[in-house]
Amino acid sequence: MATLKDLANLIYPNIHWTLEDLEKRFPKRNLPEGAKVIRFAPSPTGFLHTGSLFASLVGYYFAQQSKGIFYIRLEDTDTKREIEGSGSALVEQLKEFDIIPDEGYFSETKQIGNYGPYKQSERSEIYNTCIKHLIEMGRAYPCFCSAEELQELRKEQEARKEIPGYYGKYAKYRDYPVDAAIEKIKAGVPYIIRFKSMGNHENKVAFHDEIKGDIELTENDQDIVICKSDGLPTYHFAHLVDDHFMRTTHVTRGEEWLPSLPIHIELFDTIGFERPKYAHIPNVMKVDENGTRRKLSKRKDEEAAVSYFLEQGYPKYGFIEYLLTIANSNYEAWRDLNLEKDYKEFPLSFEKMAVEGALFDIAKVANISKERMAYKKAKDLALEVKAWAKLYDKNFYNHIIENEDLFISILNIEREKEKPRKDYEKYSDIYPIISFFYRDVYDAIDKNNLDWNPLISKEDIRSVLQDYHDTLDLSLDEEAWFASIKELAVRHGFADNVKLWKKNKEDYKGHVGDVSEFLRIALSGRKNSPNLYYVIQILGEKEVKNRIETILKHF
Ligand code: GLU
Repeated sequence: MATLKDLANLIYPNIHWTLEDLEKRFPKRNLPEGAKVIRFAPSPTGFLHTGSLFASLVGYYFAQQSKGIFYIRLEDTDTKREIEGSGSALVEQLKEFDIIPDEGYFSETKQIGNYGPYKQSERSEIYNTCIKHLIEMGRAYPCFCSAEELQELRKEQEARKEIPGYYGKYAKYRDYPVDAAIEKIKAGVPYIIRFKSMGNHENKVAFHDEIKGDIELTENDQDIVICKSDGLPTYHFAHLVDDHFMRTTHVTRGEEWLPSLPIHIELFDTIGFERPKYAHIPNVMKVDENGTRRKLSKRKDEEAAVSYFLEQGYPKYGFIEYLLTIANSNYEAWRDLNLEKDYKEFPLSFEKMAVEGALFDIAKVANISKERMAYKKAKDLALEVKAWAKLYDKNFYNHIIENEDLFISILNIEREKEKPRKDYEKYSDIYPIISFFYRDVYDAIDKNNLDWNPLISKEDIRSVLQDYHDTLDLSLDEEAWFASIKELAVRHGFADNVKLWKKNKEDYKGHVGDVSEFLRIALSGRKNSPNLYYVIQILGEKEVKNRIETILKHF
């Protein structure tokens, strides 16, 4: 009579390692007490998802703050869903957010660290060693059911209102005689490998989650697939072997994995691996058009793709800080007290992590971005904007590099002071507001269609502009300049303050605000612009005069 060992050898004739060999090859890490080893384990199935960035940010933080290790493992065993090149693209995108792993998978040609390979499709020998061990233990077995048979089984279970799945009495091959199994394999009957569960769904399994606290879930009793017909392991099995042999201390992952935790716990216990700690991170949610709260979806929501925020020009720190506010409820309070600090100094904690999924709020991303950008030095912001424009707005970029000092002075309008102006939520907001500074943009403005106040005669506007042109004095400070505008207003029959004008409208042609508006329109083509005093200072005497002359030709 054949033994389980014979069966294991028949299935894995070329596996000569044992679990002990693997234990030696991937020894426990020599790290300081309390150091966390955390992984981000993306599947190469597309772009970096907001939820994945959130999970990796959290993992990266905990690893860094505990002087541990943060690594990337590429979970590429689902070959059908794989998108070529997306693995290294994900790593690159994380890098853009300063999330740089200590070890792991970096690209198709670069992996760093002693616990690799960090790409699951290159780890077959390791998985097979473990599966072989389970077969020898009698806790894994080949299952020869066809897809049709499984479908039949499901139908039957549904009809009988029983829990669907491959378990207990429904698990046709769990107690199949070894000899018969060997015969089928030798005859070339296709099979997969299943785990033989000893659980009972009437029992509960208790465990502690670092974020969710003490939890009880129904014990697993399904004989889950651990090795698919393509010879590759399933997520349930592969991640477990990897987390053990990569010596992960904390499994931080999306909470959608929580329901499968009983499977993982049973597998860990059966194979004799010490359980890691778990921290199930809340999902990033949204309320959709129908008012239903749901997880941000890769397929349906543009804000699910991190690239959306990058393209729109939200600063990375704005986006990251937003994610930190949804990670820990005390982030904002900390930020208010530590405006000067780098967000990386924030002490993130599992205890303060929201237990419920956070609702994604783009207005908040915008608001945080606006706040942070306002306190940036013009020089630093200019570099960020330049880098963004280079990728996403060539025209803007060309204008920036034409004269970088000019761009810095434009950005510096009402900045670098106690209460800076907060005009921009994202880099893409900047160019539309400031483009008039550039002469080619100014020249392209239709001067016959400007938005002049229709209540004031063209002749009056003309004489105000001409007067300003002739008396222009750039040496005045802001206060003196404003006084000079008031005088200009009075010289032309306008009230020097709005209140006065409101009381005696018939005595005036308008008020000082109208006068500033003429200048603003003449110099920028619009009724809104950054602080006019600085606009004039930056444009300089020649340009201001020239623009007024240009405008007057259209009167
Ligand atoms: N590859 C899994 C995913 O893409 C990772 C889950 C985990 O972090 O364990 O969702």
